[in-house]
Amino acid sequence: MVYQTKSADETKKVAKDLAKEYTSGGVLALSGDLGTGKTTFTQGFAKGLGIKEKIISPTFIIVREYALPQNNEGKFYHIDLYRLEEVKQIEVLGLQDVFSNPHNVVLIEWAEKLGDLLPKNATRVMFTRISEDLRKIDVSA
Ligand code: ADP
Ligand code: MG
Repeated sequence: MVYQTKSADETKKVAKDLAKEYTSGGVLALSGDLGTGKTTFTQGFAKGLGIKEKIISPTFIIVREYALPQNNEGKFYHIDLYRLEEVKQIEVLGLQDVFSNPHNVVLIEWAEKLGDLLPKNATRVMFTRISEDLRKIDVSA
């Protein structure tokens, strides 16, 4: 499914609606250059999951964990690998454990850095900046 959004709010809306399909678990791999809307998308997605906390762009903390109001067996993980330098570090982050619980809902910015460690069933979401406020969001399960 390909979307074109004309504002950050439109991107949040697309993500919020998509989140309804992931309330019981799933992994979304977000890719695209800086400023294309990955964190904005994550904010809308979290809202769709009923998360009230503010989703911020993690600076030095790579993994953030949030409770899921509608799913007690899993949690919501916002992962930003922008600052990840070596795949070896992933072991330290404990991402394998995060992926191993199918009830977890996991969004990963710069997911391509995971290489083969990305779960095979992840939904790929590719962000492209077309112009100042126009973004293409390509979602492929
Ligand atoms: P990333 O996480 O990919 O680096 P961010 O979501 O942090 O990107 O930033 C996207 C920036 O682009 C924000 O400043 C946002 O307001 C702006 N923006 C403008 N148009 C859009 C759009 N259509 N979708 C998402 N963000 C947009
Ligand atoms: Mg970001």
